Amino acid sequence: MKLKKGDNVLIISGKDKGRTAKILKSLVKEKMILVEGINMKRKHVKPKKEGEKGQVVPVPAPMQISNVKLVCPKCGKATRVGYKIENGKKNRICKKCQSQI
Ligand SMILES: [Zn+2]
Repeated sequence: MKLKKGDNVLIISGKDKGRTAKILKSLVKEKMILVEGINMKRKHVKPKKEGEKGQVVPVPAPMQISNVKLVCPKCGKATRVGYKIENGKKNRICKKCQSQI
């Protein structure tokens, strides 16, 4: 998984194309991510107590990781993620500015 929670991403397809937002959660197995305020779906919440009304709340639905690009925190550009092995450790780097991210 090249992207992780807290990363800023640029949406490159779908109705939210062109927006940038933060990853709330990455679903590693499914190769999907939840992005803050992006791909919102309405979720019906059942009343917790008797006499309460059910609610409809907007929640982000999982989206394909291929629909986003990482925004590099160093150079601020949407970039591909690369890896560099250094002292036996795998570090994530920005392909544009080569910074460790
Ligand atoms: Zn960069």
